[in-house]
Amino acid sequence: MKRIAENLNAVRELIAGAARRSGRSPDQVRLVAVSKTHPAELIAEAYEAGQKIFGENYAQEFREKADMLPDDIEWHFVGSLQRNKVKMVVDRVTLIHSLNKLSLAQEIDKRAGAPVKALIEINIAEEGAKSGTSADRVEELIEAARDLKNIELRGLMTMPPFFDDPDKARPYFIKLRKLRDNLKARTGFALDELSMGMSGDFEAAIEEGASIVRVGTAIFGERKRNNE
Ligand SMILES: *Cc1c(COP(=O)(O)O)cnc(C)c1O
Repeated sequence: MKRIAENLNAVRELIAGAARRSGRSPDQVRLVAVSKTHPAELIAEAYEAGQKIFGENYAQEFREKADMLPDDIEWHFVGSLQRNKVKMVVDRVTLIHSLNKLSLAQEIDKRAGAPVKALIEINIAEEGAKSGTSADRVEELIEAARDLKNIELRGLMTMPPFFDDPDKARPYFIKLRKLRDNLKARTGFALDELSMGMSGDFEAAIEEGASIVRVGTAIFGERKRNNE
């Protein structure tokens, strides 16, 4: 078996185990294969191995690859999205994970030809250098997005601080889930998706309620540093 197919099988098995430990069936957790900086050939290899959802971070790179790859790939945009790049991605993505401010939501609303599903990115540890809305301000953003007919809010996404020990990320995953539960009750929006967990901590994230995990390195191998 090829290396990427092997990696994918290993990741899928770990996802299934964690889903069962959290009392869910494995198909209740979706795997986004994060392919930033990796060439289209590697994505094609993962696709041949049955992976149909891929995540990209950079608008230009995303367009180039999407144009070379099969049409039935479900693309997710997981990177920070600048307003002037919205038009390049908006009609090709199934889910934007990184909605982080109202001006971005307004631009998506304006450029999209049909409703676009989006997750609000939360800066859960309130880290200075990280993008994302603070937990305090997210309700304001949700209320403001109520009037945007081309934005369909589906949940929350976060990237906690990096730890070698995934158990250290667990409190942030719990915090995101509680925030979601609270916002869902207060706003009435169907915030069913929780996008959390990456190569180093996706099992812990699933155990704490992730419905979508975003895994790059464990599938494709290390990225080149200067492209990060
Ligand atoms: C790169 C990236 C990932 C994947 O990270 P790995 O540690 O390689 O699994 C997940 N989410 C986002 C937002 C990313 O930018």
